[in-house]
Amino acid sequence: MDKEFDSDFFDNASYEWRRNKIKISDFEFTYKCETILKNGNNCSKKVCQKSLNNILLKHLCAIHYKQYFSNLKKLRQRKY
Ligand SMILES: [Zn+2]
Repeated sequence: MDKEFDSDFFDNASYEWRRNKIKISDFEFTYKCETILKNGNNCSKKVCQKSLNNILLKHLCAIHYKQYFSNLKKLRQRKY
């Protein structure tokens, strides 16, 4: 067997593929929230549907999606 295609290769590939995803059932995966928390860890909650629909944004869970837009609103309301 070619060295590049040994079992390690597939393990690493599936690890890379799963790195930003979360298992929601035996057959389904969805993206993880990419927000970095204050403790330095990723939020890692299930990404919300609104965020999935908005391809311009990074993947955000329901909480961080809401937070992102409320921060955006605050910025827009600021008077210069
Ligand atoms: Zn989050």
